[in-house]
Amino acid sequence: MTYISRLRELSKAEHSLIYYGHPSLRHQSECVNEIVPELKDLAKIMFEIMKVNNGIGLAAPQINLLQQIVTVDLESYNLGKMAILNPRIVHLSEDREPYDEGCLSIPGIYESVIRPVRIVVEALDLEGKEIEINADGILARVLQHEIDHLHGILFIDHIEEHIRRNYLKELKQIKKMNR
Ligand code: ZN
Repeated sequence: MTYISRLRELSKAEHSLIYYGHPSLRHQSECVNEIVPELKDLAKIMFEIMKVNNGIGLAAPQINLLQQIVTVDLESYNLGKMAILNPRIVHLSEDREPYDEGCLSIPGIYESVIRPVRIVVEALDLEGKEIEINADGILARVLQHEIDHLHGILFIDHIEEHIRRNYLKELKQIKKMNR
């Protein structure tokens, strides 16, 4: 499977993040269709990358792996960690709120994004068990941001054009971070 070979590459690489401008960030990720033990190793790598980069969420496409895998680390909020596969948002609340978002693939840019306050997500855990997550607050925020990544959407896509235009110079610089 593609993610197993990619996983082997990843365990050798030190910095595996890709950045804004890399075409993989714009692709649709595939569903994980086989539960293999290597997924746990991959989650471990993703947790490590988040820790090193002070991130609270990471989606596999951000390490150039186009599989529907998301990790969340909200231990700094006392909300624990999770690794989920094939997440789907099945409910979005009507009430929305703004929140300043950032992204490990778009370092240094933070902007307010308006999103639903509460969501319900169906997913699989690393054992392949179906789970339902009722999320609000920061967890709902991170999950929506990371699930967007699985569909090639970045948080800056949610920002109004005239605001995004202020970051053209920064975005050009970030593109160059891709090796
Ligand atoms: Zn992101």
